[in-house]
Amino acid sequence: MVMLCASVDMPGRPCTMFGEHLDGCDWAPLEGEAARRGVEVSLVLSERYAAGLPSVRPCKGCLPYKAEVGMLCRLCDERWKAALSTATRLVSFLLSGGSPPADVNKARGKPGPRLPIKEATMAADELWMDLAGVAIVHASEARMSEPWWPAGTSVRDGFMPSLPLSDAVDAMRDLVTWVEADSTVTARQGGC
Ligand SMILES: [Zn+2]
Ligand SMILES: [Zn+2]
Repeated sequence: MVMLCASVDMPGRPCTMFGEHLDGCDWAPLEGEAARRGVEVSLVLSERYAAGLPSVRPCKGCLPYKAEVGMLCRLCDERWKAALSTATRLVSFLLSGGSPPADVNKARGKPGPRLPIKEATMAADELWMDLAGVAIVHASEARMSEPWWPAGTSVRDGFMPSLPLSDAVDAMRDLVTWVEADSTVTARQGGC
């Protein structure tokens, strides 16, 4: 069985092949019929419409790329590694209110009504929670212990507002290191 890139299950940006469809895609038979008859898909669509058949949602291609590196295709694996390599700097940038971390010993400002700061803080929290989620799932599947979760961080809420910036950045760096250290993080456990 061919294993497909896991990113197809992820919201936002599934990595699929243009014009290639999974079995069961409702759009594929229409494209097939149009190709057989040498007509535009829009003609097949309008005939279906005229015949009172249910409408079909257009699909540009829903067949995922093959998994080549663990559960990911090469492109997604590259994206994943690039994301890991910038995650710590990104958290530092976001938690320092969107300016470069000149003074990492300064405590973070409390989340206030200033929207850009709050959004940056929330984005940092989300990065933390996403990566923590990866680590937790991996630890559970690999039957290994989870990374150590530092005080002031929460796998459900991200970084506590009272956590100094330097501690948050250290926590993120440690978590990235934990995830990077195990190359099987994106390998499907249990085999298939
Ligand atoms: Zn499709
Ligand atoms: Zn992919």
